[in-house]
Amino acid sequence: LGFAGLRVTAAASRLTDAFQQMRQGTDARRRLMSAVSTAAPQLLSGSGEQTGTRETYRAVDLPLPEGATPTLSREIRLEHVAFAYPDSARQAVADVSLEIPSGKFVALCGPSGGGKSTLALLLMGLLRAQSGRVLCDGWDVQNHLSAWHGQIGHVGQAPFMAPRSVRENVAFGLPSDQIDDAAVWRALETAAVADIFRSHPAGLDAVLGEDGALLSGGQRQRVAIARALYHDPAVLVFDEATAALDTVTEREVSAAIARLRGGRTVIAIAHRLTTIETADTIHLIDHGRVLASGKYEELLAQSDKFREMAGL
Ligand code: ADP
Ligand code: MG
Repeated sequence: LGFAGLRVTAAASRLTDAFQQMRQGTDARRRLMSAVSTAAPQLLSGSGEQTGTRETYRAVDLPLPEGATPTLSREIRLEHVAFAYPDSARQAVADVSLEIPSGKFVALCGPSGGGKSTLALLLMGLLRAQSGRVLCDGWDVQNHLSAWHGQIGHVGQAPFMAPRSVRENVAFGLPSDQIDDAAVWRALETAAVADIFRSHPAGLDAVLGEDGALLSGGQRQRVAIARALYHDPAVLVFDEATAALDTVTEREVSAAIARLRGGRTVIAIAHRLTTIETADTIHLIDHGRVLASGKYEELLAQSDKFREMAGL
């Protein structure tokens, strides 16, 4: 009886542990869901329509207008775009109008907090402008979000790396049986990071480890660039993609970015001006507005603020 009693005690304690874990899991899930349902609708829903926290966000996805091509062929145009974050008195982007011709390299620069990232999110259709429009070849991107998102690749400052194979990290989000290895290699090649995996015994199966631990900062950014390139997007957006790197690595990654342009439209946000000297047009952004636009030398001649940023 004593022996059986001991075994029952052990089993009961395991049972208590399991219940404890279930309870904690439920708590965590409840917290997560409540955070999502409060934050996401406010950030994602349209202007002034916040009818409480239970509102659902639904992407609008109309068929493209007659004769429109699904890939950018003329220009991206921002018309009087304005956006304020919920509970913020100040507009993060206030009345920005600019044009980005297809195939050009356009840079946004300016002091931190000036509204560059918000402008990029609006341009990518990840935030919806409270007034004004973003047009791709004349069609409003907010009405055709799948078509718009399908042609954009984005690299941020600290991209997420899953503790999985490089194959899965590049073709991010695709089930393994739908991944095209040739396309993964192509993307790695263009991003100048293929060599590491060619010489790695596991090849594309090499596991990146927790948060990209196998890679140096520069390699990690280049894997993120390969991810942005995998679907061969027409538009690439780099938001301070090289800001966290040391100058030598930054130069290498910037060189990789310059090489991969091809016919693509590149929009680069940069704090350090060295990376955008060769841009076709630079827009200086502050207080949610475009203060000046032009080539590097033109801005140096035009704008005190730009000279200050350039350290002159
Ligand atoms: P930049 O990229 O030029 O540094 P941001 O677009 O990130 O500037 O920020 C513009 C303004 O919007 C800043 O005043 C910033 O504090 C504010 N802001 C940015 N993100 C959020 C957010 N998620 N919620 C509220 N305010 C934000
Ligand atoms: Mg930013």
